[in-house]
Amino acid sequence: HVYRTDVWQDWCPGCGNYGIVTSVYKAFEELGLDPSKTVIVSGIGCSGKIAHFVNVNGVHALHGRAIPFAMGIKIANPELTVVVHGGDGDLLGIGMAHFVALGRRNLDITVVLHNNRVYGLTKGQASPTLPRYAKSRGMVKPNLHDPINTIALALASGYTFVARSYAFLGEHLKEILKRAIMHKGAAFIDVLQPCATYDEIFTPDYYRKHIYRLEEIGWDPEVRSEDEAKTKLVKAIEIANKADDRIPIGIFYINPFVETFEERINRYAKSYLVNPPAKRVIERDGKPLIDREMFRKLFAE
Ligand code: SF4
Repeated sequence: HVYRTDVWQDWCPGCGNYGIVTSVYKAFEELGLDPSKTVIVSGIGCSGKIAHFVNVNGVHALHGRAIPFAMGIKIANPELTVVVHGGDGDLLGIGMAHFVALGRRNLDITVVLHNNRVYGLTKGQASPTLPRYAKSRGMVKPNLHDPINTIALALASGYTFVARSYAFLGEHLKEILKRAIMHKGAAFIDVLQPCATYDEIFTPDYYRKHIYRLEEIGWDPEVRSEDEAKTKLVKAIEIANKADDRIPIGIFYINPFVETFEERINRYAKSYLVNPPAKRVIERDGKPLIDREMFRKLFAE
């Protein structure tokens, strides 16, 4: 693959992350993304290693903080394509507040959740997406918490593209990645990802038996007019909350009518989109253009 780096990929054999990174290579290739204008920001966990394996700009950020790093990058330079990769512990545990904040802002960023329902890197503790009373190989007792419904949370937070795919359905995941990246606004993909080492419940065999495609129930995720947005959102949440053991995959919701954060900033700072912070001249002849004397006086007062 053109976008593959020669860094050794040290995920365990059978890990769903291999499927995800392969779909990322293919999606980037088919979209023809310019590596110098594309950034992957990852958090901490097995999924976080992906920033080293894809030949675009990469930031391997702090635990739970991939989204704020990504928001800073996107706001400083809105012409970049920014994709966040994080695990369920990373994005929905310590990083939950940032996950919700991105939805409210509708920045044009794609968030890819590597959802294996455990903290794989630290030996399989329960993550925020593990069902109540489930017990992974790494746990001594079953989990007492209820799981977060990832799709319902993203929809309620304001993400304007919300989808789910599965790590080993390469073609499906690739197409959803492409649509999410092309979408103008905050996009979220919940990728079901087996952890071959610490989880013996949500295996490839389990997913083969339980997933179904939203097309099978005739779901149309596109909001076609602003009036339709609310009813479609409520219906999408209802589908995401359906209480049975089948797992829908596909696109739940696409709303192209919400202003992005970049457009909102530009309403009040008219030159922002043509002259964003990353393109501003900050020095001349090696000297900063900041008026230090002004700051000195300001803080002396
Ligand atoms: Fe993958 Fe689980 Fe191994 Fe982490 S611990 S690399 S998620 S199989």
